[in-house]
Amino acid sequence: MKFEMACPACSNRSTGSWYHDKDGCRGSYMEMSNKGILKCYKCSLALNMANWRFDCSAHGGGYRAMNEDSWRKAMGIALTLPKADRLTNQVVMELNRFVTNHPEKFGFSGY
Ligand SMILES: [Zn+2]
Ligand SMILES: [Zn+2]
Repeated sequence: MKFEMACPACSNRSTGSWYHDKDGCRGSYMEMSNKGILKCYKCSLALNMANWRFDCSAHGGGYRAMNEDSWRKAMGIALTLPKADRLTNQVVMELNRFVTNHPEKFGFSGY
């Protein structure tokens, strides 16, 4: 699924699409798997989402790791987006379940 979500590293609630900030990759997009692997569509770099750093216009100060509260907020928003089609909703729910069952993979303490 295309990674279009609120920032998982701060309390910003506006959603947007993300890109890999690297020459040649800007303007492309990111894909999120139902197991939390975030991949750059352009260069195919794929890492656990906990290993990416996120920058958005709201939090300032540049790149930040995601954190549990902000991740939960982003998931909650993703599930209520009116444009979410059934497939996307399913990936979001599977991902949510996976993170809940494997919080240690993402540096979370657990729900
Ligand atoms: Zn942010
Ligand atoms: Zn890339």
